[in-house]
Amino acid sequence: MQPESGFSTRAVHTGSEADPVTGAVITPVYATSTFKQDGVGGLRNGYEYSRSANPTRTAWEECLAALENGRHGFAFASGLAAEDTLIRALLKPGDHVVIPNDAYGGTFRLFDKVAARWGVEYTAVPIDDPGALLAACTSATKLVWIETPTNPLLTIADITEITTALADHDLHVAVDNTFATPYLQQPLDLGADIVVHSTTKYVNGHSDTVGGAIAVNDDDLAERIRFHQNSMGAVMGPFDAWLTHRGAKTLSVRMERHCDTAERIAAYLSSHPKVAQVYYPGLESHPSHAVAAKQMSRFGGMVSFRHKDGEEASVEMCNRAKLFTLAESLGGVESLIEHPARMTHASAEGSELEVPSDLVRLSVGIEDAEDLLADLEQALD
Ligand SMILES: *Cc1c(COP(=O)(O)O)cnc(C)c1O
Repeated sequence: MQPESGFSTRAVHTGSEADPVTGAVITPVYATSTFKQDGVGGLRNGYEYSRSANPTRTAWEECLAALENGRHGFAFASGLAAEDTLIRALLKPGDHVVIPNDAYGGTFRLFDKVAARWGVEYTAVPIDDPGALLAACTSATKLVWIETPTNPLLTIADITEITTALADHDLHVAVDNTFATPYLQQPLDLGADIVVHSTTKYVNGHSDTVGGAIAVNDDDLAERIRFHQNSMGAVMGPFDAWLTHRGAKTLSVRMERHCDTAERIAAYLSSHPKVAQVYYPGLESHPSHAVAAKQMSRFGGMVSFRHKDGEEASVEMCNRAKLFTLAESLGGVESLIEHPARMTHASAEGSELEVPSDLVRLSVGIEDAEDLLADLEQALD
C-alpha cells in the first residue's frame, strides 16, 4: 500500500497482501510456535519462533504502523504490557518521568507502584499546563508521558506545543493515543517520538480482546523496542492479532458514528438539570476546546459528567442504565457506563490522580442515538 493512501485505504489494505501460495485474501491465524528451517539457520521469510515474530502479528503490526503514519509497529499482550516494555527499553534506575495528573489509573499504578520500586521517579503534572510540564523536567527526565484526551476527565494536552518546547531536551515524548485513536489524531506527525495504545479499546473496537501497541518512526528506537519486545516476551498472540487487525479495518467508520452520537449526548447532558458539568472536548465550554480542534479531526466517543446530586446519585444512575452496560473498559461498538471513582480509578483514591466521586463516564457506542438518549433520560430521571 502506498504510504500516501488515505487512512481508510491503509486500514483495509496495509499488511493484508493476498497469500502468495493460496491466494487467501485474509492473513490466516498462524497458530504455530515455531517454524521449520531449511538447513541450520535457513529461515523462511525471517520467521523462527513466534515470540520473536509471527506472520499474523506481523500483518497487524504493519497495518498499525501505517495507521499512525509510523515506520514501525509492535503488538503486545495488553496496553500495560506495551507501556512496561517501553519503560524498560527507555529507562534505568535513577531516571525521572513526567506523567499527567489524570492519566489512566493503570498507567499511574505502573509508574507509582512498579517503576518507582525499581528506581524510576515520576512527577505528575496537569497535562494541559505546558509551563508546569516544562518546570517538572530535570536533567534526569528521560520520558514525558502524554495522554490526550485523558481518561476519565478528557483533559487535552497540546502535543505540538509540548514536543516543540522539549525539542532540545535529551528525552522521549510518548503519547497514549487510546482515546483519540489514529483516525482522529496522529501524534507522530505532531512531533511525538512514540505512540502507545491499548488496542483493547477503539482500535479493536469489539470488546473481545486485550491488547497493546507501540508505533515509532525512528529506526534505532524501533530496534530497542523490538529487542525488548522479544526479550521481555509480552507479545500479542496470533489469534488476538488477527481479531485486532480485523477490528482496525473498520476504525474510521466506527469512529465517525462514535463521534456523531457522543456530540449529541454531550449536548443533551449539558442542558440536563441533574448534570453539574460535562467533560467533552467537542463542547465550546471545554477549557481546551481550541487545542482539541487544532490537533484532532473530531472529538471522540468518550463523555464524562458530574451528577448534581452527588456520589450516591451518580452510582444509582449507573445502576439504572439498561442499554448502557455497566462495565469497565471502553471503545467497543456497545455503549458502556461506569463510575470511575469506584471502578476504573479506584486505585487512584487518595493520590493526586483521584477523580471526583460524582463522576460518571460514558463510552458511547454505535447503537441508534435515540435509543441511547432515551436510556440516559430514564437513568437520570
Ligand atoms: C485501558 C487503557 C490502558 C491500559 O490498557 P490495557 O489494554 O487494559 O492493558 C492504557 N491507557 C488508556 C488510556 C486506557 O484506556
